[in-house]
Amino acid sequence: MVASNIAVDHATTGLVRAEVERAQRISPHFVRVTFGGESLQNWRHLGFDQWLRLALPIAEETCFDRLSDRFDMRGYLKYLSLPKATRPVIRNYTVREFRAEQGEMDIDFVVHGTEGFAGNWAASLPIGSPVALLDQGCGFTPNPDADRVLLAGEESALPALLGVLRDLPAHTVGDAIIEVPDAADRQPAPGPAGVRQHWIVRPESSRPGALALDTLKQVATVGAVDPGQLSAFVVGEQQLASGGRKHLVNELGVPKSAVRFCGYWRQR
Ligand SMILES: Cc1cc2nc3c(=O)[nH]c(=O)nc-3n(C[C@H](O)[C@H](O)[C@H](O)COP(=O)(O)OP(=O)(O)OC[C@H]3O[C@@H](n4cnc5c(N)ncnc54)[C@H](O)[C@@H]3O)c2cc1C
Repeated sequence: MVASNIAVDHATTGLVRAEVERAQRISPHFVRVTFGGESLQNWRHLGFDQWLRLALPIAEETCFDRLSDRFDMRGYLKYLSLPKATRPVIRNYTVREFRAEQGEMDIDFVVHGTEGFAGNWAASLPIGSPVALLDQGCGFTPNPDADRVLLAGEESALPALLGVLRDLPAHTVGDAIIEVPDAADRQPAPGPAGVRQHWIVRPESSRPGALALDTLKQVATVGAVDPGQLSAFVVGEQQLASGGRKHLVNELGVPKSAVRFCGYWRQR
């Protein structure tokens, strides 16, 4: 998480163990990994963009026993004290779907090349692999006095945006801007009929998130948006998240508290 004003809502469920039951390439840039296991039956399911810290094994000897039940400052320092060669890798992911009856959770991973750990781990279709999950709550908190939303993100935020669209009240109106690297990475996006969906397929020459930010600026203009009547959620590559927030707050006068933003990763 790079820059963000999302508050963490630590669940009491602590460290939840699971294992990979299925893994499947669902589109050019996405692998869907399905986790299962008895402990998942107690998962606090919130819907929307509920996210988690996902601990992944880095070696045969990796175990999750010495991780803290909370990934706050204390939990993080405890994590850093573990031997680097075997301590789990921890990354942030969104719950794509949770099926309580089966105790199953899907996470959609962007496969973004050879760098990094989590994307490659998912691309290896690691069936049987043990993992641990720490529920962090939802980042999107709609303003109860506003039923207009503005959602924007690129592919790392696709699971979050689809979850928010799926769970918004049916009367919600507004705009959802969703940038993907390939037309085949689009997914069905059921949501309120009054929320217009702006899908953008990014050409290779474009920086991730740049076109989504341009579209946000075209959609959210003075006069088109009542600054007091908006809940905004701008997430994904750092420049999109912070640029979107800056536009809404500085140019349009949307209250800071009505704009939830989070840099999910940073383009180097
Ligand atoms: C709240 C939250 C929810 C998130 N939900 C999801 C989700 O559901 N699905 C998902 O795929 N991601 C999600 N992310 C983003 C994910 O945590 C990052 O992309 C993470 O960096 C991936 O870890 P990694 O080990 O693959 O790469 P890292 O080791 O973190 O980074 C290695 C290199 O890869 C680059 N990189 C990282 N992510 C991407 C990317 N998406 N595209 C291109 N280059 C990249 C980095 O700039 C770096 O150079 C979420 C992030 C947050 C904060």
